[in-house]
Amino acid sequence: MTVATLREQSYWSATAPAPQITERTWPQRVDVAIVGGGYTGLAAARELARRGAHVAVLEAYTFGWGASSRNGGMALTGLKESMSATIRRFGTETARALFRTSLEAVAYVERLVHEEEIDCEFARCGHLELAWKPSHFEALQREAELLERVFGHHVHVIPRSALHTETATDYYHGALLDEASGGLHPAKYASGLATAADRAGAWLFERCRVNAIERTNGAFALQTTRGTLCANAVLIATNGYTSSLTPEIQRRVIPIGSYIIATDPLPAELAQAISPKRRMMYDTKHFLFYYRLSSDNRMIFGGRAAFFPEGPDTVRKSAAILHKSMSQVYPQLAHARVEYAWGGTLAFTFDLIPHAGQTRDGLYYALGCGGHGVALLSYLGACMGCHIAGEKVDNPFFTLPFPTAPLGLYDGRPWFLPLVGAYYRLRDWLA
Ligand SMILES: Cc1cc2nc3c(=O)[nH]c(=O)nc-3n(C[C@H](O)[C@H](O)[C@H](O)COP(=O)(O)OP(=O)(O)OC[C@H]3O[C@@H](n4cnc5c(N)ncnc54)[C@H](O)[C@@H]3O)c2cc1C
Repeated sequence: MTVATLREQSYWSATAPAPQITERTWPQRVDVAIVGGGYTGLAAARELARRGAHVAVLEAYTFGWGASSRNGGMALTGLKESMSATIRRFGTETARALFRTSLEAVAYVERLVHEEEIDCEFARCGHLELAWKPSHFEALQREAELLERVFGHHVHVIPRSALHTETATDYYHGALLDEASGGLHPAKYASGLATAADRAGAWLFERCRVNAIERTNGAFALQTTRGTLCANAVLIATNGYTSSLTPEIQRRVIPIGSYIIATDPLPAELAQAISPKRRMMYDTKHFLFYYRLSSDNRMIFGGRAAFFPEGPDTVRKSAAILHKSMSQVYPQLAHARVEYAWGGTLAFTFDLIPHAGQTRDGLYYALGCGGHGVALLSYLGACMGCHIAGEKVDNPFFTLPFPTAPLGLYDGRPWFLPLVGAYYRLRDWLA
């Protein structure tokens, strides 16, 4: 792999405009303070401000700095787990409600982008889930039948013999195609969402880290790097960057690092062969690959190249691993130069679905989507904004218990990740 000029930076951030934010003086008091300025916090702020609330979003770095400017840009239907696994875990009725919400989430992003005229390349391009093993293809066939029968949702099964109509690789054994999913430019979306929240009247503060939250006389005092802020309600929207600021939430989310490379723009013919319909693609491995083309025909190829949140040289090492992986799937890309490489942190939960609700201390939260947060967390953030504003919100993610590890074995420091990582690598290897 040629790495001489590798930029250790998100390609998305490098190609997105900064949001247009009104300069505000520091407020002493607001109705609602939101900690975290990604999709969740910004979508919530927009809904709250539109309902007349005085709301401030406090972001430690810049808006979208977290996973919201680093992800694959896939606005996916469904959840991290298959719907058959979701039925086993939660029962059919709850699984139906969760799946329906995932469809509403994609529709919400589409509507939001349209209403706010956010130029973020949103398209309902569909996603392909690619079978890594013949047995995985059989499972995808059963899943397609279940989606039709139980969820009334139509998807297509693509056998291996027809896969080249979708993508020029012999690496996979067929695929499931869901045309309801979308794709977008994640950092342009984050920037547009921040501008929209600002326009709705939310007060946005960058480079403002919240260091402590204290409960005082039924309200909250937030100690921040800009000063103290009093708020009647607080929403925690810190997802994979959740810290000891909120220990009760931290014990329920597991931060996982994920890494992406972007090649130089590919020749048009090669890009056309690799993804003629410009689908969002990911495979069925535990240590999955996920990828898509950018609008300028770069291959954006991601995976859990290293299992931890990044260290000083993790991005460079991950770039080499991902380039090798990309070349296995697409030998025609073996000589493609990698221009950008970056990592980000997402949040898993112990039951693999996102959660939104209120802690015993009265803090609201919405987080924990794994790799399905682009649409779902935008929507859960928006629903949480409506809920805090006093509207009745009927959302199944709000009512499910939010588990932590049994026997108090987890305090927010994921000591078990090497073991879990080894276990899933073994399962991939055995499959
Ligand atoms: C590499 C990668 C690829 C992904 N690909 C996809 C994909 O293709 N499709 C998909 O649906 N999902 C994907 N995801 C997941 C998705 O990006 C996230 O679920 C989503 O962006 C989370 O949004 P958020 O607003 O909740 O959190 P974030 O965008 O992570 O924002 C949290 C923010 O909180 C701030 N913060 C934390 N603590 C404090 C504090 N004390 N004070 C102030 N601010 C604080 C952080 O600075 C951060 O900006 C991916 C994630 C990663 C990392």
